[in-house]
Amino acid sequence: MAAHYIDVILPIPLQKTFTYKVNESEAEFLQKGMRVAVEFGKSKVYTALVVNIHTQAPQLYEAKDIHQILDEKPIVSPQQLKHWQWIASYYLCSLGDVYKAALPSAFLLESETILYKNEGFGDESILTDEEFLIFEALQHQPQLSVHQVVDILGKKKVLPIINQLIQKLVIEVREEIYETYKPKMVKYVRLHVNYENESSLQVLLEELSRAKKQRDAVLTYFQLKSTKKPIKAKDLEKKSNVSSSILKALVDKGVFEFYHLQTDRVAFKSNTNGLKQLNEYQQTALKEIKESFNSNDITLLHGVTSSGKTEVYTQLIQDTLTTGKQVLFLLPEIALTTQIITRLENYFGNNIAVFHSKYSVNERVEVWNNVLQQKSKAQIVLGARSSVFLPFSNLGLIVVDEEHEASYKQYEPSPRYNARDAAVVLAKLHGAKILLGSATPSLESKFNAVNNKYGLVSLTRRHGNIQMPSIELIDIKEKHRKKEMKGHFSDRLISLIKDALEEKEQVILFQNRRGFSPIVECTTCGTSPQCPNCDVSLTYHKYRGELKCHYCHYQRAMPTSCGACGNATLDTKGFGTEQIELELKELFPKHNIGRMDSDTTRGKFGYQKIIEAFEAQEIDVLVGTQMLSKGLDFNNVSLVGILNADAMLNFPDFRAHERAYQLMTQVSGRAGRSKKQGKVAIQTYNPYHQILQQVSTNSYEEMYKEQLQDRWQYHYPPYYRLIKITLKHRDYTKVDSGINWLAKALQNVFHDNVLGPSAPAVSRIRNQYIKNLIIKIPPKQSLVKTKEQLQKVKNTFEAIKDFRPIRFIIDVDAY
Ligand code: ADP
Ligand code: ZN
Repeated sequence: MAAHYIDVILPIPLQKTFTYKVNESEAEFLQKGMRVAVEFGKSKVYTALVVNIHTQAPQLYEAKDIHQILDEKPIVSPQQLKHWQWIASYYLCSLGDVYKAALPSAFLLESETILYKNEGFGDESILTDEEFLIFEALQHQPQLSVHQVVDILGKKKVLPIINQLIQKLVIEVREEIYETYKPKMVKYVRLHVNYENESSLQVLLEELSRAKKQRDAVLTYFQLKSTKKPIKAKDLEKKSNVSSSILKALVDKGVFEFYHLQTDRVAFKSNTNGLKQLNEYQQTALKEIKESFNSNDITLLHGVTSSGKTEVYTQLIQDTLTTGKQVLFLLPEIALTTQIITRLENYFGNNIAVFHSKYSVNERVEVWNNVLQQKSKAQIVLGARSSVFLPFSNLGLIVVDEEHEASYKQYEPSPRYNARDAAVVLAKLHGAKILLGSATPSLESKFNAVNNKYGLVSLTRRHGNIQMPSIELIDIKEKHRKKEMKGHFSDRLISLIKDALEEKEQVILFQNRRGFSPIVECTTCGTSPQCPNCDVSLTYHKYRGELKCHYCHYQRAMPTSCGACGNATLDTKGFGTEQIELELKELFPKHNIGRMDSDTTRGKFGYQKIIEAFEAQEIDVLVGTQMLSKGLDFNNVSLVGILNADAMLNFPDFRAHERAYQLMTQVSGRAGRSKKQGKVAIQTYNPYHQILQQVSTNSYEEMYKEQLQDRWQYHYPPYYRLIKITLKHRDYTKVDSGINWLAKALQNVFHDNVLGPSAPAVSRIRNQYIKNLIIKIPPKQSLVKTKEQLQKVKNTFEAIKDFRPIRFIIDVDAY
């Protein structure tokens, strides 16, 4: 009788699958994509995934028995396994890394997992005796380890029981608590019932004849009322040009009443009549996309900001829904894109599942299961990059919104994949169509489109035929010379802000650096406080009176005197969002200034709160970092200011110019989206810089051509591919000798196509010294072969005892 074996993936960075023994009935029952509990290493138990079932004993080791089978049916689809294999081989990482990244952690129980009770659980009657013992234990102690469960039950094989407890919602494996979000309430006004008939109204208006402002408010109320929509208190104040105290007085008199509605409710009501009617340009684009899909599964939609790309996507989604196939809609960052989520939920509410790494484990498990079972409520999945790992089996369409976004690339930990590129492969595996959308496509995607690898469709008009914002460059060198600067604001920018605020319009100001200032320096001895763990100076956060490291989160109180010479002559250099916010408060004391950066958006819903406050026009001027460039859609913003364009342009990276173009164009795109042409003011020391010229004339094509020439000349993507290798260790000499050895070894194979070694701008982070090498792969050189050669060199490197403790990181298509 033949023995039976299974090959499994373990959730650890092993290069290979591992083989275990199973009995005949287990072999018959098991299918690829099911989980089994197995022991690996020194009595550690892991959840492994079956990828093969066979009768071939392993040659090099004795196969152990499995502990237990954990699933009745596969939880991973065959397409998924193929996709994972592609990721592992393309990004040079282990299948175990991909497996671990792909599955919600509740699916990956291991002996180190910690269990908590689910406070919401009440019905003990559904528990088996063993399950009840665990439930009971959790009434007496806040958490249990898997080892403790083993002790309580007096047996080793406990993962199936724990699995059951998770399924029955008795316990949680918790990393983060998910707070339920309370939508924001918006204040509305209505007339008190006493005044609803004509005659009492006449009386009222006469009564108010001497209170002119109050009378204006009431008259304007009737104008607004003719639109038959609820009237926001803010709108009424604005339209009738009265302050909130006037409305309050009218409420006190019993003329008006305030009431509150949830913002999302209101949106929902106005939107029950299905998808929006596409404008003529959108219709043409939709038609072209469909034609393109006939001959090319991958198509790039290059549509200027506010051209209504989302509306075009929704039509394609609608079409796919009717075929019964699944849709994946990828967004760069879920937290920042609540507006798009709300829009899509309004259209497709019952068919949408949002997959969010911030959701509780149970919710993620639920989405996973719904996708796996092809439930209609998860027919459309909205998610950030990790949603490419969901168990789709019937994908018809993938949309990658803002495809140029760097946040599609994962840096840490492995797998270091680009979700856009992984999505292209995923679509291919399913025979699905994929649409990449952007107002500022990555050079790579545009290049592929221009060279007919992808289809290309353009949308060049804003919805409503509103003109693209007019962009003005302000030479601050000149302004400084003429003493026309107040702090970091030119007189021109100040007057533009004034104009906008007078019109009751809103303003967005962009400064891509948080804190008050990035450098504190003693004017006596020149010393500036550094992070003890990283090679970087500490950023001053005035609001909290602290110095902080933006790399390792080290912080300490801002000293009153210099640590080196003792003089009280500390000064700041450079500026961040905090400083801009403070300057604004002095320049415009009567207006509300808001700030959006990672300091103000800490809590789970930090983003939504600020976005909603801005939407509700409770904030007049919003200062922020690159967060402001992510597809936000505000209808009352007429001015966008960029305080300092130069830092972006001078960044030492071959993508810096492309990025600066994208960032400035995207931020500019927030202006003038719904009523009239917006204005953009960019402050710079270099108004003749070609990128600024291109941004100000909206010349993407020119930027594209120029950047491509540079990329060709200096051997960068999209012509050459890059693999970045990073070594890290606490001991500088170790990293240094490691990288020098590696450079030589790689030069022997790849010759001139090895760049470096070099130290990054911040060459020590969290006490780890860092050195980089880059391998450039010419257009005709085999990718597979290159990677094999690299893997060989890596193996040799790791065989050298001295080098073994060094962290070796490979980043394919590094960003
Ligand atoms: P993009 O993603 O291209 O920047 P959006 O899809 O956000 O643009 O559209 C910009 C704004 O114009 C949104 O507020 C959207 O609701 C509105 N809009 C776009 N197309 C239409 C349409 N066909 N009918 C009504 N409103 C539209
Ligand atoms: Zn630090």
